[in-house]
Amino acid sequence: MRLILLGPPGSGKGTQAKLLSSRLNLAHVGTGDILREAVRQNTPLGLKVKPYIGPGKLAPDDLVNEVVSERFRGDKRPERFVMDGYPRTLAQAASFDQLLRQEFMDLSAVILLVVEDSEIIKRLTGRLICPNCKRPYHLVNNPPRSDRVCDDCGLPLIQRSDDQEPTVRKRLSDYRANTPGLIGHYQPRGLLHEVAGVGEIEEIYGRIHQVLVQVGA
Ligand code: AMP
Repeated sequence: MRLILLGPPGSGKGTQAKLLSSRLNLAHVGTGDILREAVRQNTPLGLKVKPYIGPGKLAPDDLVNEVVSERFRGDKRPERFVMDGYPRTLAQAASFDQLLRQEFMDLSAVILLVVEDSEIIKRLTGRLICPNCKRPYHLVNNPPRSDRVCDDCGLPLIQRSDDQEPTVRKRLSDYRANTPGLIGHYQPRGLLHEVAGVGEIEEIYGRIHQVLVQVGA
């Protein structure tokens, strides 16, 4: 099974990708996580993308395309995967198509999580994340068992610098600008499936799972 999850920042792509990955045994390829980790470790890639990530701007296509190509090269190449946060632009979608063609891989489905802007602002400004395992939490919707501490790692949770409101609005406007192009890219191929990204995490997972059953993935 080879999936792409599309959706605005804070639509639950990361949460759903983690569930899909563990329950269906898929490699979870999250470009945001890869880039943030590179920044944390001050790698050459991290230094290049740092000026984009903090203010919530999209990193340049060629850099992100290279990160993804690298992930799909050689022995580490995942056969079954869920893409989380990539592609985000038409140029990235074209590059990913080419990569998959080279690797003789077909996509099974592209899932578009649909969530309104007002709900996104509410969600992201309450979002916390574990600095170690990257597990996402929410102060209201998905709180940790004890106050602001990761259930799995026991470490204090942090707010991402790009989850502050002005930055969230910028990320949303980039998303709204780029998404029609992505929809136009995948819809004619019959790959695009819209799923309501509201409700309980398990409920949303159930909707995605239903799509996967429908398409025989
Ligand atoms: P995310 O965790 O997916 O919200 O990504 C966090 C940040 O990483 C984004 O705001 C961008 O700065 C950068 N980023 C992640 N994925 C991409 C991508 N596919 N294209 C460009 N920038 C990206």
